[in-house]
Amino acid sequence: MTAPRVTVDLDKLEHNTRTIVGLCQSRNIEVCGVTKATCGHPQVALAMLRGGVCAIADSRLENIRRMQAAGVDASYILLRIPSLSIVDDVVEAVSVSLNSEPALLAALSDAAQRRGQIHEVILMVDLGDLREGVWPDELAVLVKSALEFPGIRVRGLGTNLACFGGVVPSEANMGLLVDLAAETEQDFALQLQWLSAINSSGLEMIAADRMPARINHARIGEAILLGRETTRRKPWPGTFQDAFVIHAEVLEVKRKPSRPLGTRTEDAFGGLTRFEDQGEKLRVLLNLGREDVDVAGIAPCEPGVVVLGASSDYTVVDVSASAGPVRVGDELAFIPNYSALLALMTSEYVAKVTL
Ligand SMILES: *Cc1c(COP(=O)(O)O)cnc(C)c1O
Repeated sequence: MTAPRVTVDLDKLEHNTRTIVGLCQSRNIEVCGVTKATCGHPQVALAMLRGGVCAIADSRLENIRRMQAAGVDASYILLRIPSLSIVDDVVEAVSVSLNSEPALLAALSDAAQRRGQIHEVILMVDLGDLREGVWPDELAVLVKSALEFPGIRVRGLGTNLACFGGVVPSEANMGLLVDLAAETEQDFALQLQWLSAINSSGLEMIAADRMPARINHARIGEAILLGRETTRRKPWPGTFQDAFVIHAEVLEVKRKPSRPLGTRTEDAFGGLTRFEDQGEKLRVLLNLGREDVDVAGIAPCEPGVVVLGASSDYTVVDVSASAGPVRVGDELAFIPNYSALLALMTSEYVAKVTL
């Protein structure tokens, strides 16, 4: 079979989804499945829907369109703040988007009205992770402007943590969102249906029953795809960590020293690696490189295999401690982390094979 390829075990994804949805449902939290790390793979979205998510969320309109074109019948949420230039496509393709700028709300409202629609928004509040969202003291201004646009309906408030700044959800920041929601509802006499505060970093708080009851919407990617919560990347109980496996082919097997010979300068990517002298090693070249994957994010499936590094098109692996012989044409398998998964699914050089 062609390599490199990433295999996608749809039953494992469905099982992972069911585990996460079950946990969240028991606390009255709705889950939308986040497909962006798979570039909106339609089969992945279908597995998530079979597992019980109530919507599909993705950061890119192209991905959402791909799933829609493949016939994935779901309600869709756009996760990335929309660009002004695509508002018409946004209101056509998704029912809900995440927003933080009045100018965008104005444009979305106009676009929705042109189509005779109402576009729903989650207004994003930055609770310290320093990516998208208004600072809490600017929320009222954003809500006020949102309510002025006839083509917009405020579905709720949201926040995103553990992505840019690595801030973990806590009683303090989740509580602040709940307080902001209560103030907003009172000041503007409106009802906020969703408090969308959770991604895969929120599972521990939910499982420990520490999540405030009003938080009722989660946008979950990694915990479903890779079976991990994201504050410590702990395997989540009852999920598989190997729904995605990358297979690469052995191109060369040679015994070589562990340290480069000669005067050294930067490598192809401007790095200056330190090499320890560990004597001669049995080294393997794989047909997998940085054009396919984030090589720092792959873990060998077989014991005794060590990833040494990679350039654009080769990954160099030490197989000295491998149990069996490794020959040209053999395949080695690896489990990707989130960063590696994103690259694998984006690379057109990697075949995607669903199981
Ligand atoms: C990617 C993303 C998510 C999903 O995060 P995971 O950690 O993969 O669960 C949720 N919300 C937003 C806004 C995102 O961009």
